Amino acid sequence: MPGRRADNLVRPSVRQLSGYVPGEQPAGARLVKLNTNENPYPPSPKVLEATRDAVDGRLRLYPDPSAERLRGRLARVHKCEPENLLVGNGSDELLAVCIRACAEPLRSVAPSRKRAATVQYFDPSYSLYPVLADAHGARRHAVPLAADFGLPPLTARGGTQAWDTKAALSLVTTPNAPSGRGYSTAELRRLCRATDGVVVLDEAYADFAAENALSLARELPNVVVLRTFSKAYSLCFQRIGYAVARPELIAELAKVRDSYSVNGLGQVAAVATLADRTYYRQIIRQIVASREALALELEELGFRVLPSETNFLLVEPPCLPAEQWFHELRARRILVRWFSARRVRKYLRITIGTDDEIELLLRAAERILAA
Ligand SMILES: *Cc1c(COP(=O)(O)O)cnc(C)c1O
Repeated sequence: MPGRRADNLVRPSVRQLSGYVPGEQPAGARLVKLNTNENPYPPSPKVLEATRDAVDGRLRLYPDPSAERLRGRLARVHKCEPENLLVGNGSDELLAVCIRACAEPLRSVAPSRKRAATVQYFDPSYSLYPVLADAHGARRHAVPLAADFGLPPLTARGGTQAWDTKAALSLVTTPNAPSGRGYSTAELRRLCRATDGVVVLDEAYADFAAENALSLARELPNVVVLRTFSKAYSLCFQRIGYAVARPELIAELAKVRDSYSVNGLGQVAAVATLADRTYYRQIIRQIVASREALALELEELGFRVLPSETNFLLVEPPCLPAEQWFHELRARRILVRWFSARRVRKYLRITIGTDDEIELLLRAAERILAA
């Protein structure tokens, strides 16, 4: 219908949304890609083979809606029951599912009940959270992390920036992104116990950390731990994430997800991944070793490097503003991530690459410093 504008076709609240801004996925393969925390190593050959072998006439069929087989394998790995697990189209889908299940749209609650519509998260953390909260029409509540990106004190702070122990849903990135900082299970337990609503511990980077808080998903009735095959298991392309929680909570979450959201080839690849954990333990160990080595090298070049328990480093570069470093590196075909958000704009986030990629990054940095 010519002349009809999108403003008349969608809800005003949707028109006002700003969508999530993903890191660039360049079409050409000529960039050193250290911007989206992908694993620099390929999936195990057994995973590639299993996925290839699954490409046949069965593509005609719907995939298993509840990912029975994968949940069975995950239950064995995590020493829980399949009923403790919900598989999603990446953990991103499960974040949206948690919001849909736990937070009321703000317009549907009386002002006195606005906490029933509150989605709470730390600033800085995963920049998808506010986008998902907005899309649901929930109320956003961002709580500043401490100056060193540690958890803020929970007691007696008050004010509009304090942790709300009555928020319907709280989303905690642990270890934190984009800072890289890890949190102890003891302090996360304290946070979860002090909070009445559901607390999601988004453990996308837990495999690179000293500690994880998976045990809290079974210990506490209000905790959901999210894991993904994307970061440590080289499977971003296949979109597989999962939630771990008490069966009662998992059953409720399962009601509000799309039945066939989890791609069949993704399920095959994830099952094969769990059958070759030795391979992944090795590459995870390699990435952690590379992370520590890169931190030292960058420090020698004058960068301030924040402690990391992830597969990336948040660094404050010397001499030039971080945004300019981003452009200078890109001009030398090195792609890193720069965020314009206030708390993090003086930093670059650099994904740990292969040794060759790290070498190219360091040489480019030296040239920028010499220019
Ligand atoms: C990468 C990432 C995700 C998304 O994982 P997918 O399973 O690929 O959707 C979720 N949370 C955080 C903090 C991440 O960094």
